[in-house]
Amino acid sequence: MDFLKKLKFVGKGNEIKINNSIVGKDLIIIAGPCGIESEEQFLSSAKFLKDKATLLRAHLFKPRTNPYSFQGLGEKGLNLLEKAKKIKIPLISEIMESSQIEILSDYIDAFQIGARNMQNFNLLKAIGKTDKPIILKRGISATIEEWVNAAEYIMKEGNLNVIFCERGIRTYSDVTRNTLDLSVVPLFKKHNLPIIVDPCHGTGMKELIAPMSKAAIAAGTDGLLIEVHPNPAEALSDSNQQLNFTEFDDLFNEVKKLNNFLK
Ligand code: PEP
Ligand code: MN
Repeated sequence: MDFLKKLKFVGKGNEIKINNSIVGKDLIIIAGPCGIESEEQFLSSAKFLKDKATLLRAHLFKPRTNPYSFQGLGEKGLNLLEKAKKIKIPLISEIMESSQIEILSDYIDAFQIGARNMQNFNLLKAIGKTDKPIILKRGISATIEEWVNAAEYIMKEGNLNVIFCERGIRTYSDVTRNTLDLSVVPLFKKHNLPIIVDPCHGTGMKELIAPMSKAAIAAGTDGLLIEVHPNPAEALSDSNQQLNFTEFDDLFNEVKKLNNFLK
């Protein structure tokens, strides 16, 4: 990773705090539905994940491959973020364009830049002017250098709170949705880069979420991103890769146990 030498900010080891958690010290758990669909679906997830998740997924703007698929509730779902705040669980939401920063700012605690926007340089520059933690997902076929450079774009604007999220890359795998590249975890940790792992988008298969989560913990991840839905079979997006509440509890307990053991 010689290219790090050319950068001014990435890898310099600043401490990132997400509410009461410190990245690198506490295991960060981001969990919640792929997208907010309804009050009942979102607030039941919020109540269930309070005290378990570091951040609740509160995604109103969904980048979908097919333009006819559910695109998220958009701004009309903001009142649900307001209601979730009363449950007192910190929120993270994806932005797809700079105008959404202001729309969401008063409601959320962290931003997500999704895989499809990893090299949307204007968006990276705009988000870099905020001060909230940013989860920067790896682009669908991004090299490590491209990904790290994307983080530098954000940090150069002043926001040093960038956490990388490995979410799988496009290979010739014909069964899993993506190929989860867990080798980046020890590689990034060696260079002082905060990294979490998303085994849901990384595999697209429910039965692979628990084993790949444990593999990520064994590799030294700073956290996990897990999609959780009260009724995954009825989900309007990513129904094959979301855990129900019981499945999440099982995973959460196993992951905590493994993490404590490895410490
Ligand atoms: C997501 O986490 O909601 C998402 C769309 O993931 P990705 O950008 O990794 O596809
Ligand atoms: Mn999803």
